[in-house]
Amino acid sequence: MHYISTRGQAPNLDFQDALLTGLARDGGLYVPEVWPQLSADDLRALAEMDYPAAAARILAPFAEGIGVERLAAMIDEAYAVFDDPGVVPLRPIGEGQWLMELFHGPTLAFKDVAMQLLGRLFDHVLEQRNQRVTIVGATSGDTGSAAIEACRDHQAIDIFILYPEGRVSEVQRRQMTTVLSDNVHNIAIQGTFDDCQALVKQMFDDLAFRDEIAMSAVNSINWARVVAQVVYYVTSAVALGAPETPVSFVVPTGNFGCVFAGYGAARMGLPVHRLVVATNRNDILHRFFQSGEYRTDGVVATQSPSMDIQVASNFERLLFDLAERDGEVVRGYMDGLANEGGFRVGRAELDRARKIFDSHRVDEETTTATIAELHRETGILIDPHTAVALRAARDLDLPGPVVTLATAHPAKFPEAVERACGVRPELPAALADIYQREERYTVLPNDLARVQAHVRQHRRQDK
Ligand SMILES: *Cc1c(COP(=O)(O)O)cnc(C)c1O
Repeated sequence: MHYISTRGQAPNLDFQDALLTGLARDGGLYVPEVWPQLSADDLRALAEMDYPAAAARILAPFAEGIGVERLAAMIDEAYAVFDDPGVVPLRPIGEGQWLMELFHGPTLAFKDVAMQLLGRLFDHVLEQRNQRVTIVGATSGDTGSAAIEACRDHQAIDIFILYPEGRVSEVQRRQMTTVLSDNVHNIAIQGTFDDCQALVKQMFDDLAFRDEIAMSAVNSINWARVVAQVVYYVTSAVALGAPETPVSFVVPTGNFGCVFAGYGAARMGLPVHRLVVATNRNDILHRFFQSGEYRTDGVVATQSPSMDIQVASNFERLLFDLAERDGEVVRGYMDGLANEGGFRVGRAELDRARKIFDSHRVDEETTTATIAELHRETGILIDPHTAVALRAARDLDLPGPVVTLATAHPAKFPEAVERACGVRPELPAALADIYQREERYTVLPNDLARVQAHVRQHRRQDK
């Protein structure tokens, strides 16, 4: 299995190299040259397996160089840390309606599902090659803690996470700063999230520095993160009757990684009725699926911050298929985005997208009302990201069993949930003492040279 760039001008890579490289050298994203296929019999066989066994079966053809047994062992370890025996359990919430709970990992958001495996894959490949990396990332909250939990204590990795001082919630900060492993380095930047992102970008652009520290990233465009998310679409659909019964999925969407994995599952042969892209007021994707025009329009802060995006970094992977895998066409779109703030696809491309995708936008008041509505009906608490998707699931007329992806635990957003329904969700037992734990972090000014000096000084070498 080889991976090709969506812009058609970077070398093809195998799984291990795509994993370590992240962004392609031509600025594109890696996608599989062909999608492995799951037959109806393969799907029936998956229905008999537990989550880790199904994951090993689904992921093996994507990661040929790793070895099936080694891969299965990493998957077993990754999902043993989840606090539900089903890993991603389905919960009924009404006639033909389900929530898929993706928040049973250590940091209470769906990003753990991919990150827990990614950390182990990184460690394995680095050890085989006798290499080390320094992962540097910026976070506005959720991604940083998931990445830290995934990389903590791994010998071949140092991880530096930059977050804006005083601008992440206390739970989010403590989920990062109370990890005291000596390969974990939290940096509170005196600036905004955009400043943090700009610092990381400048470090990547400083090629000498980048090579010196063997810099790498685990952001959401990493192919291994996307493919790990394909698994839960397949396992939930077979649990609800696939291949005989096709399923619809409704996905709270920001950077388009999670919902692209659903599209990947369909490309592999999973019968999927509809894939719904649910957005908050930051609706660039909703506007695209309605009109064929993809145009930036500023970012507003909402109660579902992990979906507050200006452009969706993984969307390029879908564009590549809509353009019938012509990298030159994708380059044209991306030039339009960079130079004119947007582009429009043709009728044929939009029709191709709409064959499987629907979209819906949900405003703040309706999000709050939806948290209250589900609580009134069932007693179940959901977080604001999940509420955006549930509203879409209920407002659109979708065929088949409808699965709404629950991407964060309600206790991760206690203020929003309490405001909506008067009940304050409690943290799971594993995190109950987080307010008492010791924190460790360094405060630095928004100054590239200071941050680079800190990274040089604190990364461990040759251990
Ligand atoms: C990251 C995130 C999302 C958005 O996922 P994308 O893959 O970026 O579309 C939705 N909900 C929560 C809670 C998240 O952390």
